[in-house]
Amino acid sequence: MNFQNSFAELGSAFSQPIELSPLHEPLLASWNTDAAQLLGWDSVPEQITELLNGQIPLERPPVASLYAGHQFGVWVSQLGDGRAAILGEIENDNARWELQLKGSGPTPFSRGGDGRAVLRSSIREYLCSEAMHGLGIPTTRALCLIDSKTPVYREEVESGALIVRMAPTHIRFGSFEVFASRGQTDEVRQLADYVIQRFYPECLQSDNPYLAFYQKVVERTAEMVAGWMAQGFSHGVMNTDNMSILGLTIDYGPFGFMENYNPDYICNHSDHSGRYAFNQQPNIASWNLGALGNALLSLLETKKAQTVLDGFKDLYLTAYKRRMSAKLGLNKISEKSEKLVDELLHLMRECQADYSRSFRFLSRESTWDQAAKQFGDSKQFKTWLSRLAECRANHADCERLALSQNPKYLLRNYMAQIAIERAQQGSYTEIDRLLRLLQLPFDEHPEDEEYFAEPPDWAKRLSLSCSS
Ligand code: AMP
Ligand code: MG
Repeated sequence: MNFQNSFAELGSAFSQPIELSPLHEPLLASWNTDAAQLLGWDSVPEQITELLNGQIPLERPPVASLYAGHQFGVWVSQLGDGRAAILGEIENDNARWELQLKGSGPTPFSRGGDGRAVLRSSIREYLCSEAMHGLGIPTTRALCLIDSKTPVYREEVESGALIVRMAPTHIRFGSFEVFASRGQTDEVRQLADYVIQRFYPECLQSDNPYLAFYQKVVERTAEMVAGWMAQGFSHGVMNTDNMSILGLTIDYGPFGFMENYNPDYICNHSDHSGRYAFNQQPNIASWNLGALGNALLSLLETKKAQTVLDGFKDLYLTAYKRRMSAKLGLNKISEKSEKLVDELLHLMRECQADYSRSFRFLSRESTWDQAAKQFGDSKQFKTWLSRLAECRANHADCERLALSQNPKYLLRNYMAQIAIERAQQGSYTEIDRLLRLLQLPFDEHPEDEEYFAEPPDWAKRLSLSCSS
């Protein structure tokens, strides 16, 4: 297999060649045909497991990239791919996909870590990135999951695994911050030129391509976070090294989809101050974009960069309001639609209603009685419903729009947990089942109806480890 590797060609300041450390007894546990098709692969390529597991030498060595970042607001001057390896790019249908292994062993940036990823966290990332794609939220993709017999030591011994991620590039805000912090302005420019030429070529037409580039990143990040907020997704670790320069959701760790509506929801148990709580995500995105702006200051005028950054709030709010109106089946933002959303969320919080099930039931008038049950059949909710009915002019169009925005199926932690426990016992079929279900979350899937039902009681007591 022939990979190009344009990122590696940028030179040794940006990445280091590495040797992969093969996992023992690798087993292709799941293969994502949808993602494979993006690469032009209609069937599983021969010896792909051996190749991805580093048992077959590549023409050009894989590389690990350098970056830094603000972790929980604290500056960390050097991070980098401590357990990831960029294999290179595959071109298909006028698109280039960078393939990156996660869990393939230590690199010069491992900082004492083992370079591994456990099966549990790999399944979660594999499923969630595809679920996000299914929801229409920009994200890295996942090509496959490889399980193994390599022991990996976390709170207990677990199996080492790896996933293959795909994105046009995996460059992060922190990839710029590392050079800016060292005063390496040539490298900042080189990296910006690479990103602009490859991924934002439209900015080259602008009088000020670097400012146009920053503007685009601000826009894409606003769209991404609006998607998260509309679908109740919490990332959990919004450090600047986990922010993609393409506005893709990246680095799935202790993420969570909100179940009972609670805007203060914190999915990451180590986030004691709630810095990355659900409702903080737009503010944090803006903070992170500020850090990126600082890192680009050698290329930008401070005042102009600040104006671009100040635009984030409006971009985000417009994108968020558009999505929330659509979730009610309303195709325009109006004072009325905004009020309806605010009041609904207020009632949801009071009643501890399930966020995604409530919206799904609200999509069709024929299930409004089930929606009402989520709100304890309260009088207030019924009044609210009658006001929604008044705003829904063309019923069929409204239902269609709402059904296209409100997924029937969501990757709840307990669902991932079932797939994880089965995989730990050697059966991967549940992973494939969830993958197929979550890739088309707006469809009915009558055979999987149990995953639309109210989550089982044990799901509420589920405690997740943040180690990965
Ligand atoms: P994350 O929280 O997964 O985004 O990781 C933060 C940083 O720690 C990144 O630079 C990772 O590459 C690195 N890292 C996380 N886990 C490991 C590990 N097991 N071995 C080496 N580096 C790791
Ligand atoms: Mg990370």
